[in-house]
Amino acid sequence: MESDPLHSPAHHHPNSKTALLSFHTDSSITTSAAKPTFQNKVLLISLLSTTFTAVIAAVSFAFLFLSATSAAAGESKTIKITTTARSLTKLTHPIVILISSDGFRFGYQFKAPTPNIHRLINNGTSAELGLIPVFPTLTFPNHYSIVTGLYPPHHGIINNYFVDPITGDKFSMASHEPKWWLGEPLWETVAKHGKKAATYFWPGSEVIKPDWDCPSNYCIHYNGSIPFEERVDTVISYFDLPINEIPVFMTLYFEDPDHQGHQVGPDDPEITQAVINIDKMIGRLIKGLEKRGVFEDVNIFMVGDHGMVGTCDKKLIFLDDLEIPSNWVQSYTPLLAISPPPEFSPAEIVAKMNSGLQSGKVVNGKHLKVYLKEDLPKRLHYSDSYRIPPIIGLLDEGYKVEQKDSNKNECGGAHGYDNEYFSMRTIFIAHGPQFAKGRKVPSFENVQIYNLVTSILDVEGAPNNGSVSFPNSVLLPHA
Ligand SMILES: [Zn+2]
Repeated sequence: MESDPLHSPAHHHPNSKTALLSFHTDSSITTSAAKPTFQNKVLLISLLSTTFTAVIAAVSFAFLFLSATSAAAGESKTIKITTTARSLTKLTHPIVILISSDGFRFGYQFKAPTPNIHRLINNGTSAELGLIPVFPTLTFPNHYSIVTGLYPPHHGIINNYFVDPITGDKFSMASHEPKWWLGEPLWETVAKHGKKAATYFWPGSEVIKPDWDCPSNYCIHYNGSIPFEERVDTVISYFDLPINEIPVFMTLYFEDPDHQGHQVGPDDPEITQAVINIDKMIGRLIKGLEKRGVFEDVNIFMVGDHGMVGTCDKKLIFLDDLEIPSNWVQSYTPLLAISPPPEFSPAEIVAKMNSGLQSGKVVNGKHLKVYLKEDLPKRLHYSDSYRIPPIIGLLDEGYKVEQKDSNKNECGGAHGYDNEYFSMRTIFIAHGPQFAKGRKVPSFENVQIYNLVTSILDVEGAPNNGSVSFPNSVLLPHA
């Protein structure tokens, strides 16, 4: 497996893998055909990949076609299927509740009966194959991309912890100084337009911005020991305010199932339990909103920040084997970030590390590749910030980097890998007046969410990396 050249460039991409597998199956069935030569194989493989892409495209188009025809057919019958946004029945203005379930890997929703999450899916719009996180697929960079629409180099939170190379100041997940947090998060955009926002936890929500002063009662300071029920009940209680005083934008955050995922990996029954519990919280929220007659009026977004993959011993790479000292390393795994002292040339270190990794002398060396940040694949959007250390390592899925072999014997889960891995995907489910019922949309990156929210709330958003036309492709137009 490790030396199989077919796996090195293509293994990142689930589609290419499927194409290869189907090729082998097909060739074994067509017995009358002459044995394919190597060149024919390559041609066939590329044809199959092209076909696969075409099939995907065709399926997406068929989807649009089907939704359009079923809606048209619906209108001629007695059951009316709305193709425009439904009007509000009780509220007088649109409201968005943005919920994050940390580390909710795409697919967890099928681990156990999750009737409440499925109620949102079946009556709302969801990303059929999940939401694509930004790179690095870590908690803080992703949560802040969701609320700013910016890739990490532009919003400044390039890792969960890092050192500012100019000042030497250290950022950690407890840092609330405004200098770290760039961009304009949704709560600030809302406040800037004279509307009320409420944050029940979200990375960055406690940070003072020009148009956000983290108002008491509406900006809860992070405390992981507050029970999930209490968080949900507080958000529900905002709907007991006079209608014009209800915040138009609210966040709600749960640490699970990320917490369990790290300890036991994505396939442990503990994850199933955590998912069932998150579903109960969604049920609690729905019930509270229904009791107040506003469930159908509110826009609920349920998202996660990233997925999770199992990591077990023997999938380790040790930096001692490459003679990289620990004091050069800003973060180990899965995002390897190295900042050598100024007298060393980063380019030379990258060359030396890669030749060591490819020499066959470093255990698991083939599963790590290091880059000068400016040479990282462009699709990762991870170079355009002085805060990003000069050397970045990309690990194969499930592998980890450590300084030295400590003979630890553990199995758990991790995230932070290339956002192209399917295991890093999370969920996007949206329910409300502007979302078609039961609609599935193709996967998209989480930087698109900012424009969706500002579009629903009808406020002008700050410039960002999302596409201006994206909301039109997901939201129902107003009548
Ligand atoms: Zn997370």
